[in-house]
Amino acid sequence: MALGDQGGQDEGMNPTPILGFYEEPARSLPVVAEADVLVVGGGPGGIGAAVSAARNGAKTILVERFGSFGGTWTAGILSAIMPYPYVRGIFSEVIAVWAKAGGWVDNGWGKNDGHGGAGNYDSETAKVTLDQLVVKAGVTPYFFAQVTAVIRDGDRLRGVIIESKEGRQVILAKMIIDSSGDGDVSVLAGVPADQGRDSDGGVQPMTMIFKMTGVDDERAAASRRADPDFARAWQAAKARGEVTVPREDVLAGRNPKPGEWNFNTTRIINKDGTKLRDVTDAMIEGRRQVAEVAAFLRKNVPGFEHAVVSETAPHIGVRETRRIRCDYTVTAKDIIEVVPFGDCIARGNWFIDIHSPTGEGTERIHPPEGKWYEIPYRSIRAQGVENLLIASRCIDSTHEAHAAIRITPQVMAIGEGAGAAAALCVKQGLTSTRQLDVNLLRETLRKQGAFV
Ligand SMILES: Cc1cc2nc3c(=O)[nH]c(=O)nc-3n(C[C@H](O)[C@H](O)[C@H](O)COP(=O)(O)OP(=O)(O)OC[C@H]3O[C@@H](n4cnc5c(N)ncnc54)[C@H](O)[C@@H]3O)c2cc1C
Repeated sequence: MALGDQGGQDEGMNPTPILGFYEEPARSLPVVAEADVLVVGGGPGGIGAAVSAARNGAKTILVERFGSFGGTWTAGILSAIMPYPYVRGIFSEVIAVWAKAGGWVDNGWGKNDGHGGAGNYDSETAKVTLDQLVVKAGVTPYFFAQVTAVIRDGDRLRGVIIESKEGRQVILAKMIIDSSGDGDVSVLAGVPADQGRDSDGGVQPMTMIFKMTGVDDERAAASRRADPDFARAWQAAKARGEVTVPREDVLAGRNPKPGEWNFNTTRIINKDGTKLRDVTDAMIEGRRQVAEVAAFLRKNVPGFEHAVVSETAPHIGVRETRRIRCDYTVTAKDIIEVVPFGDCIARGNWFIDIHSPTGEGTERIHPPEGKWYEIPYRSIRAQGVENLLIASRCIDSTHEAHAAIRITPQVMAIGEGAGAAAALCVKQGLTSTRQLDVNLLRETLRKQGAFV
C-alpha cells in the first residue's frame, strides 16, 4: 500500500496523538564531518555497504543510533542465520570470523561447503567482531547518533542532520546510503514509499527474541526431535489456556554457548515499527509473551526444567515497515521464476516467508531448489534523488518479494553492492548513481569475492 493512500496508514496503527504545534526557532548547526560515502544504519546492510565503500577507496562514515553494529543481529539478538548458498563476499568473512572466535555453530540446515551453511551465532561475539570489521576497513563510526533530517538540494542530498548528546549536527557527503531498515533517510528526503500487503496494509509481526540459559542441551534437543518445534505440547498448552502468543509453534535455536538457546517465538501483531507508541507497546507486549513462553517450556518440555531467561532483545525485532520506491520493484514473480537481471548486484534463494500479519500461520512459497534469484542495481536507486542508494531490507520490492529478500546474508550482499557502487561513483566523479557502468560494478564486486 502506498503511504498516505488510505486514511491513517502513514500515521501508524496506534498513532501518537498530536496535541498542538510548536514553532522551532531557526538556528545554525555545526558541520562536524564530511564524507565521500555516508551510510546511515549499521545493520547487516549498512555494515556491508560501509566496508565495501571503504575498501573501494571512499572516505566512509557509518552512523548508527545504538551502541553496537549489527542491527537486528545485535540490538535484536537474532542469533540465527538462514542458509545462504548464493551469498559470499563480506558475509562469508563475517561467518568465518565468528567461527574462529567460537561464536558460531552450524545447525546443518544449509550446504556447509564454506559458503552455504546456516546456524546460530553468539550476539556478544558479533558485537566485538563487527566493531573490528568496520574499523579495520577504515570506516569512521558514529554510535548514538540518529539521523532525523536530511539536507536536500534539488535532486541531490547534501547531507544529513544527526541528533545525539551533543545536539543537532550536520554530516555532509557526496553519496548517501540508506541502511536504516525503515528507509528513514529516503522518507525524510521525500522519496515515495509503500508499506504492507496490498489488501489491507498489514505488515509481518514483530518478535521479541530472547535467550534462555541453564538448558539441558541434549534432553532439549531430544524433546524437539520427538515433537518438532514443540508444536504438539504448545498447541495443547494453548488449548488449556496457558499460552496466548499468536504463533503456531516454538521456533528455537541452540546457541554456541553450552546450555543457551534462542527463541523466535513471540508474535506482536498490528503494530507499525516506525511509530513511537506502537514500538513502545510492542516492547511491553513482547516481554509479557517472553515470560509466557519461558513458563511453558519449563513446565512442559524436558530439558528446560531449570532454564531461565537470560536476555531479551534491547530492541524488538521489526520484520517489515516501509519499502522505498526505486527505479524497479522486485516482485514475487522475479523470486519464484528466478528472473535474471543484467545489473544483478546480489543473489539469494531464501523463500517468500510471510509470518501472518494477523495471527497464527506462516505462508511459504519456494523458488526452485538449487537456483538463485537476483537483485538488480536499479531496485536500490532511490526515485528522484541522484545520490541516494538503499542497502537494507527496505529496497524496492513488493510485500511478498520483501519477505524473501529480507534475510541477513542477502541484505548484507545488497549492502556490499551498494557500497561498491557509491565508491565507484565518487571515484569516477559521477553526479548520479544512474550514470554508473553496471558491468564495472559487477566486475568490482566479483573481484572482492561477491557472487554476482
Ligand atoms: C524477529 C525477526 C526474525 C528474523 N529471523 C531471521 C533469521 O532467522 N535469519 C536471517 O538471516 N534474518 C532474519 N530476519 C531478517 C533480518 O534480521 C532483517 O531483515 C535484517 O536485519 C535487515 O537488515 P537491515 O540492515 O536492513 O536492518 P536492521 O538489521 O534493522 O539494521 C538497521 C540499523 O539501522 C539503525 N537505524 C535505524 N534508523 C536509524 C536512523 N534514523 N539513524 C541512525 N541509525 C538508524 C538501527 O539502529 C539498526 O542498527 C529476522 C528479522 C526479525 C525482525
